[in-house]
Amino acid sequence: MRPTVLDPLFVPITSLAGVGPKVGLLIERVVPADLGDRAARAADLLFVLPNTVIDRRNRPGIALSAEGQIVTLEVRVDRHQPPPPRGNRSVPYRVYAHDDTGEVALTFFHAHAAYLQKMLPEGERVVISGRMEWFNGRPTMVHPDHIAPIDEAEGLPLVEPVYPLTAGLSAKVLRRAIGQALGRLPELPEWQDDAFMRRHTFPSFSDALARIHYPKDPIDVAVEGSAWRRLGYDELLAGQVSLALVRARIRRLSGRPLTGDGRIVEKLRAALPYKLTPSQEFALGEINADLADPERMLRLLQGDVGSGKTVVALLAMARAVEAGGQAALMAPTEILARQHLATIAPLAEKAGLRLAILTGREKGRERAETLAGLAGGEIDIVVGTHALFQESVTFHDLVLAVVDEQHRFGVHQRLAITAKGDAPDMLVMTATPIPRTLVLTAFGDMDVSKLTEKPAGRQPIRTVTLPMERLDELVGRMLDAVADGQKIYWICPLVEESEEIKLMSAEDRFASLKPLFGDRIGLVHGRMKGAEKDEAMRSFKQGETRILIATTVIEVGVDVPDATIMVIEHAERFGLAQLHQLRGRVGRGDKPSSCVLLYKEPLGETAKRRLSVMRETEDGFKIAEEDLKLRGEGELLGTRQSGTPGFQVARLEFHADLLEAARDDARLILSRDPELQSERGGALRLLLYLFGRDEAVRLLRAG
Ligand code: ADP
Ligand code: MG
Repeated sequence: MRPTVLDPLFVPITSLAGVGPKVGLLIERVVPADLGDRAARAADLLFVLPNTVIDRRNRPGIALSAEGQIVTLEVRVDRHQPPPPRGNRSVPYRVYAHDDTGEVALTFFHAHAAYLQKMLPEGERVVISGRMEWFNGRPTMVHPDHIAPIDEAEGLPLVEPVYPLTAGLSAKVLRRAIGQALGRLPELPEWQDDAFMRRHTFPSFSDALARIHYPKDPIDVAVEGSAWRRLGYDELLAGQVSLALVRARIRRLSGRPLTGDGRIVEKLRAALPYKLTPSQEFALGEINADLADPERMLRLLQGDVGSGKTVVALLAMARAVEAGGQAALMAPTEILARQHLATIAPLAEKAGLRLAILTGREKGRERAETLAGLAGGEIDIVVGTHALFQESVTFHDLVLAVVDEQHRFGVHQRLAITAKGDAPDMLVMTATPIPRTLVLTAFGDMDVSKLTEKPAGRQPIRTVTLPMERLDELVGRMLDAVADGQKIYWICPLVEESEEIKLMSAEDRFASLKPLFGDRIGLVHGRMKGAEKDEAMRSFKQGETRILIATTVIEVGVDVPDATIMVIEHAERFGLAQLHQLRGRVGRGDKPSSCVLLYKEPLGETAKRRLSVMRETEDGFKIAEEDLKLRGEGELLGTRQSGTPGFQVARLEFHADLLEAARDDARLILSRDPELQSERGGALRLLLYLFGRDEAVRLLRAG
C-alpha cells in the first residue's frame, strides 16, 4: 500500500487546473518517466526538469537595452494604437509605454484588444519582460513574454526555467502544471544519510526541487549543481535499492540444483559444425556451476555481436532439460524469436529435444496445443517473445529462463517471467557491450560471464564511408557483388511523419533498386505482416534473394552467416550502438565482409565523429564508451530519447561518481534493514514510490 502522505501527488495530471485530456496527452510526452500503460501523475511532473533558463535579471532601462537582448522593464503605459479596422491584417496592435530613459513600442500581431486593455491599462505602471529589438532606431518589444502589474512583479520569473516542450504544448501551461505538482508536495522525512548529505552539500528533496523549478540563478539548474545531483542520487539510490530487493527476492526463492547426465548436451555438441571458443566454454562452465548450485542463478552473459551467445544458451537449456525441467528463451522481437527457432530446431531434433514457439502470432489450435504442451511438460524448450509473459501461459516445470537482448526488456518483465516457474534460474544475454556503469544501473549486482573473443576464422570487417552523391557507383558495385554470389543487407532509416526532410524509406529504395536487381532483391520492414517478414528473411537466408532492403528490424540478433556486405543509408542518422549492432550482422562467416556507411552532407560534428569511430574500430566496448561520451544524453539501453536510459533525472555522464555510492548505500541499508522497517526504511519506501519503483516495494513482506 502506498503511504497516504503521497496521495496528493498520485493523482492523474488531468486533475490539475489547466490540464484537460488533450493537454494531458501532450504533457505525457515530456514526462521523463517510463509510463508504460499508466497515465501520468502529478508526481511525474516533479521530474520534468528544465533544459536551461532564460535570464531576465537584466534591467538596463529602455534606452540602454541592446538589440536582441532579453530585458525586464518597468514602464508606464501611455497609449494604445489598435490596427485600423478591416485594414491590412499584418498591421500590428501597438501599445506605447515609457520609463525614465525613453519610449518603447510593444507590438502584438493578431491581438485581442480587450485582453491588451486589461493587461496594459493606460496610465498604469507595469513590468514587462521579453526580447528587445530596434527598428529604425526605435526600441520595440514584439509579444513580451511576461506582463504584470507593478505590484505583482514579484511573481515574474526573473530566472525562468525552460522545460522540454512538444508541439502544441505551451510553456506557460506546462509551467503551471509543474507548479501545481510542486504545491502538492507534502512534507517528507529525509531518506538520505545525514553525513552523506553534508559531505555533498545536498539540499533536502523539496529544496532541491524548489531550487531547480524556481531558480534564482542559472547555476541552480545546472546538472552538476548540488540540487540536481541530489535528485540524481535519489533516483540512483531508488534504482539500486529496488534492484537489490528484486535480487534478494529472487535469491530467497531458492532454486534447486540442476545437474545432467550429459546425454542431450553431448548430442548437441556432436551436431555443432564448429568447436566452442575458449570463452564460450568458460561461460558455460560458470553457468553449469550456477545451475548445479541450489541457490538461484542470476547471470548476465555479455558478449559483443557475433560472439556466439545463442549456442551457449542452447547448451545451458539442454542441461536444464537433462535435469528434468523446461527452459524458455525470450527474444525481444518476433523475427529474432523465429530465427532462434530456426537455428535451434535442427540441433534440437538431433538431440531429441521437444521444441515450440510462442509469439503473438500463434493463434487458435496451434497456440492451444503449445500452451497445453507447456503446461503438461511435453515441450522441453519454448522460444518466444513477450507473449511468454502472459498470464495464460503456465509451465509444467520451468527451471531456466533465458532472456536475449535484455536491454529491451524492463524490470517489470523480468519480474513477470520470474513469477512463472518455481524460481527458475535466469540467464540474461546482452549483445550491446554495456559499459560497467550501465550494467550496474540496469542489472544491479548480477554475476557476469563475458564472451571475450569471436569465433576463430572471422575476418575483420572493412568499413568505409561514402557520400550519397556516389550512390550510383555503389549500386554498380553491389550489382557486381550479387553477380559474384554475395549477400547484401541494405538498411534504410525509419521515416518519421514529423520529419521535414523526406528520407528515402525502405519501400522507396526497394522500388528504385528493383528494376536493377529483379527477383534477387527482397524487402523487410516493421509494418509488414509476420508471415511476409518470415518469407523475406527465409528467402534471403536461403539465397533466393541476394540483396535485402530492410529497416532496423534486423538490427539485433539476425544471423545470416554468409551475408558479407552491409550498406547503411543515412548512416549519419544512427547512433553508434545501433551502427555497431547493424554492422554486426555481417562478418559472421569466414569470408571477408564490408560495411558501407552512406551519408548525406553536411555532417554535424557528432555525426562525423561517430562515422570515424566506426571506421577506426570494431571493438564493441570501445564503441560503447565512445557512444556514452558522444551522446551523453541518449539511449544506450534502448529506452528514452533524453537523459540517461532508464532514468528520469540522473545523468550518468555527470553523476557516474554517485552510482557506486548508491550501490554501496543500498547494500548497507538492506543488510541492516532488509524489509525497510526502520525509520529510514520507511522514508526510503516513499522514495521508491516517487521514482516509480513500487514494484520493488511490493516484494517486501509487510507492504
Ligand atoms: P550473438 O552473440 O551475436 O547472438 P550468435 O549466437 O548469433 O551471436 O552467433 C553468431 C554466429 O556465430 C552464428 O552463425 C553461430 O552459428 C556462429 N558461432 C557461434 N559460436 C561459434 C564458434 N565457436 N565457432 C564458429 N562459429 C560460431
Ligand atoms: Mg544473438
